[in-house]
Amino acid sequence: MSIRLAHVTKAFGEHRAVDDVSFEVPENAFFCVVGPSGCGKSTLLRLIAGLESPDAGEIALDGAAVAGPGGMVPPEARRVGVVFQSYALWPHLTVAGNVAFPYEARGLSRAEARQKAEAHLRTVALEALAGRRPEALSGGQRQRVALARCLAGDARTILMDEPLANLDPHLRSAMEVELRGFHDRSGVTTLFITHDQREAVALADVMAVMDKGRILQIGTPQEVFERPRCEMVARFIGRGALLRAEVAGGVARIGGQAVPVAGEGEGGGGGARAILFRPADVTLAEGGLAARLSAVSYRGGHWEAMAEVPGLAEPLALDLARPARVGDAVGLRLTGGWVLPEGG
Ligand code: ADP
Ligand code: MG
Repeated sequence: MSIRLAHVTKAFGEHRAVDDVSFEVPENAFFCVVGPSGCGKSTLLRLIAGLESPDAGEIALDGAAVAGPGGMVPPEARRVGVVFQSYALWPHLTVAGNVAFPYEARGLSRAEARQKAEAHLRTVALEALAGRRPEALSGGQRQRVALARCLAGDARTILMDEPLANLDPHLRSAMEVELRGFHDRSGVTTLFITHDQREAVALADVMAVMDKGRILQIGTPQEVFERPRCEMVARFIGRGALLRAEVAGGVARIGGQAVPVAGEGEGGGGGARAILFRPADVTLAEGGLAARLSAVSYRGGHWEAMAEVPGLAEPLALDLARPARVGDAVGLRLTGGWVLPEGG
């Protein structure tokens, strides 16, 4: 099922929680919306689910309008399943009973409902726990029950609102892999909401970066990481330093070095531009820019560091293959950079 939003706005009082948002999620895509807390992500999800109605704009599922000037299709008629942080399972029902519930609610006999539920339990690899009650499951297992129940509810689109936020980091990584596997096996369209950019980059086919009710950029994780359109996106996704410098003919002048940079654009007439330097653009080099490490942390196999360079407005972020300490003097060379669009 495809999802299309056109100029959707939703305000609470004076505050526009969702402000003129337009995007399209193709059928079967894993689409992540990522942005800081309070930027309007949950409101966006509730609008698509039909739990809120837009003040302006239109929402269409599979090309058919479900919210807008033509009226509202109620949530239960949208074939959209929602998974929240809290799993909202029936505590008195077993795993199988929870997943069969949507079928029984539609009038199937218990035996028929259980039989259909079995297929969904296989999709989430929970057949072995079919007889347990939710209280005897881990957070990740409960999540899988909630997903299976969405499928039983005939959802063609699954909306997930920070579903992994309550899990411990170890389980989180495992669940990321599982959610992606579930998506690929079930053939649903997934809209996944998170404030965690690392999670979005790892999971998404396409991601949308949201801030203050607006979508700032939509693209593959690689596009958004490598070619951010504005400062907010550059700073929110991944590590790096933003420096202003003169750019002409694809070359920036930083601390006396000539650095080849991309993104200057057609007819870039030179002048000071904002340039993003990712850790991959910064290497150790004898006789390079004189710098001092201001932060170092071990990340298993490599070290993430920050380096202060006198005269540069921000410390450079870099990765080191060998141990280092705060205060170490190093020489650095910049090997590339991305020039933000004018006005970005
Ligand atoms: P996020 O999920 O990105 O953290 P939300 O969509 O929950 O953001 O909220 C966006 C903004 O809208 C916040 O400022 C929040 O306080 C406000 N908001 C959300 N729901 C309501 C509501 N029902 N009534 C009033 N304000 C709301
Ligand atoms: Mg939220």
